[in-house]
Amino acid sequence: MYDPLKSYSPGVGERYPNSYWFNHSGPAPKQSNKLQKDIEVDVAIIGAGYTGLSCAYHLATEHKIKAHILEANQTAWGCSGRNAGFILKSTGRKPYARMIRQWGESVAKDIYNETCEGLETVNQLISTGIDCDPQAKGYLRVAHKPSMVKVIKAQAKLLKQLFSYDVEYISQNELKTDYFDSRHAFGAIRFADGYGVNPLKLAWGYQNLAIRAGAEIYTASPVEKIISIDQAHSGAGSNTRSYANSDKNNYRLITPEGIVTAKKVVIATNGYTPYQFHPSINNRMLPVLSQIIVTRPLTSAELSNCNFITSNVVMDTRALKYYFRKLPDNRLLFGGRGAINGKDAEDPYYADRLLKVLKSSFPSLSEVKVDYSWSGWICMALDDLPHIVKGDAQGNLFYSAGYCGNGVSFSVQAGKRLAQQIAGQAVPNLPLYNQSLPKFPLPSLRRVGQWGYFQYGKVKDRWF
Ligand SMILES: Cc1cc2nc3c(=O)[nH]c(=O)nc-3n(C[C@H](O)[C@H](O)[C@H](O)COP(=O)(O)OP(=O)(O)OC[C@H]3O[C@@H](n4cnc5c(N)ncnc54)[C@H](O)[C@@H]3O)c2cc1C
Repeated sequence: MYDPLKSYSPGVGERYPNSYWFNHSGPAPKQSNKLQKDIEVDVAIIGAGYTGLSCAYHLATEHKIKAHILEANQTAWGCSGRNAGFILKSTGRKPYARMIRQWGESVAKDIYNETCEGLETVNQLISTGIDCDPQAKGYLRVAHKPSMVKVIKAQAKLLKQLFSYDVEYISQNELKTDYFDSRHAFGAIRFADGYGVNPLKLAWGYQNLAIRAGAEIYTASPVEKIISIDQAHSGAGSNTRSYANSDKNNYRLITPEGIVTAKKVVIATNGYTPYQFHPSINNRMLPVLSQIIVTRPLTSAELSNCNFITSNVVMDTRALKYYFRKLPDNRLLFGGRGAINGKDAEDPYYADRLLKVLKSSFPSLSEVKVDYSWSGWICMALDDLPHIVKGDAQGNLFYSAGYCGNGVSFSVQAGKRLAQQIAGQAVPNLPLYNQSLPKFPLPSLRRVGQWGYFQYGKVKDRWF
């Protein structure tokens, strides 16, 4: 599998992975053409996942700016078509308690408000008619051992006090009788507004909205190189309309069969960003494989044996998290960490390991088989936060990355904020928007660090 820490290209026109989503989403919308000529554009967006699509949509609808998206493979070929479909009010992995210690309550509140806006935008876009199989609302954060109960209770208290967030504590007994009966669940907190969808259908819905609003998408068109044009020699003779604070051509994007000359560029490649892609983001991300398995449909007897009533989405409190949900056709989707390197991604060991955890959580499912298994690169940031910022001194190139496995709703907010920045509008003065992704110290040792974290996580999750 493509490994962003090793490869200079995510491929050209690669097929979607053989995931449950790909097999249960109906026919893919007609894919756009590949770029086969040189073009000159106002805004070029690299990557057609949620971030790129949202940015293009918001540029068109809110700023009357037409964007051209360049996608190496197909729309939502990266994380956006492979994730677990949990729509949560979240941004990265940094807990609010840590934000408050670092920046104070007011900044934490403003960041929380950004996540609320992100969720609202997703809900609003879905309500325009995106058919993405939303399930009943509710997200359960489950204590995976007794000592974590006080931790989740404290989290619920903080969220209620500070943000009046609708979060309730569910005891171990209530979990067993009203949600599911797992050996590894000792209580939970329930967020009333999270829910599950089909993430690929969601992305295809965004694609339709962006195209209808006027955006253009080129698939099978990987950007191989981003070249900055000397400011002094650009712009002359340009006949495209000017906007914001620049009417000059500032970048050339080289694709296999065409060159895109653009005034502004957005890098929306997140965990799929190729190795050494651009100085603004090099060595600032850690792509980590997350693995998903989906079982065959469970029988009513199997569901009742583990009392699996809920279709709320579920994640546990481990450092090395597991997440799961019951899909509309009564299969269980179960996810957790995958291989460390891309070359091992398809080794059945990783799917088997998840199945073992599933079975140890629900012993009555000891006979269950897996129908689908796939993985994808989530994008970890050193400070556990996404950053949506300019990547050059002039403000002609922007990037958004670092959702840390929590980007289904926030990437849409990120796309909206990117559009505002491109249009020259102010965005909230928050670390998300005014600080670059921090560089990893000793970046060539990122995989060693990841391995070390996995060892630490195993010990912590079991013993502390
Ligand atoms: C297994 C898994 C489960 C997850 N579950 C959840 C979840 O339940 N909830 C949640 O909130 N988040 C989840 N996430 C994370 C979430 O999916 C991502 O945060 C989100 O999809 C990021 O969207 P994006 O548009 O920024 O990036 P992506 O969707 O990854 O899109 C990047 C695109 O850039 C393209 N690209 C890369 N390089 C180039 C290039 N040189 N030229 C042109 N195109 C290029 C890629 O082909 C890719 O299509 C999960 C992720 C994984 C992998």
